Amino acid sequence: MQRWLEDIHARARTRLGRGRVADYIPALARQDPARLGIAVYTNAGERYVAGDAETPFSIQSIAKVLLLTLALRTHGEALWQRVGLNPSGMPFNSLALLEAERGKPRNPFINAGAIAVADCLVSAFVTPDKHLRDVARRLAGNASILIDDEVLASEWQHRARNAAAAYLMKAFGNLDNEVDEVLRTYFSCCALAMSCRDLAIALSFLASDGHARGPGERFVSPGLTRRINAIMTTCGMYDAAGDFAYRVGLPAKSGVGGGIVAVVPGRMTVCAWSPALDDSGNSVAAQHALELFAEELDPPPPDA
Ligand code: GLN
Repeated sequence: MQRWLEDIHARARTRLGRGRVADYIPALARQDPARLGIAVYTNAGERYVAGDAETPFSIQSIAKVLLLTLALRTHGEALWQRVGLNPSGMPFNSLALLEAERGKPRNPFINAGAIAVADCLVSAFVTPDKHLRDVARRLAGNASILIDDEVLASEWQHRARNAAAAYLMKAFGNLDNEVDEVLRTYFSCCALAMSCRDLAIALSFLASDGHARGPGERFVSPGLTRRINAIMTTCGMYDAAGDFAYRVGLPAKSGVGGGIVAVVPGRMTVCAWSPALDDSGNSVAAQHALELFAEELDPPPPDA
């Protein structure tokens, strides 16, 4: 596996130089586009890493998986009165459908949807961002995971579009708490800094029927795990979800920090990171690494 991963890393490096680092959040614009890391965590607890797999980066929208998981634990099926379950076919920060659909975001992985989910957590916890950070620490087995204050401040300063989505939802009665508090919670979660290794371990419950790292700790039920994986497949890569599902065929979630986590149900989680993004906001080299990874997962066909 180790040599296999290093080979995938070397082949995915050929995609470096394509795409652009996100600059609408200025703190992210300083990322080095030449970084590339991959980490795998198997259900047997084996860890494999290649390249920059231990460098913390801004997890951004990958946090939406943890936001959703916590909100499903606190709100259950009632969550779906607040947010829909279908792909939007629009960029992650689009406002186009939100007015037409009366403030109910299409799904929990576009920004508006994750802001509605964050609102649920603001209602449920005194300090929801710290709660989510602590859950990430516990799931990853890494107590040094932090919220990057500089990224948080940068997102706050350039919040106009997310604020517009939040105010529109507020106007439609789909936000219970104050807009500023909900936005701060959402940005804090997006500003978590984690490495590929941290993320592969933290989200490994999605590969193991809801069991968190180490045997015994059930984080969510198998049914919820299956449903979260389904939403990742249909909505995790935004308007490119169909392309990615065809090319890679695994449930996945990306973030504009350049990370993508993919799940091989029953077997392992894999996280790839490289900061330069395509037009949909998904990392070019990380997508390629996952495509190579998925191809290699299949056993070769028997000789004719
Ligand atoms: N925090 C980012 C935003 O709100 C998350 C977007 C992303 O990673 N796609 O724009």
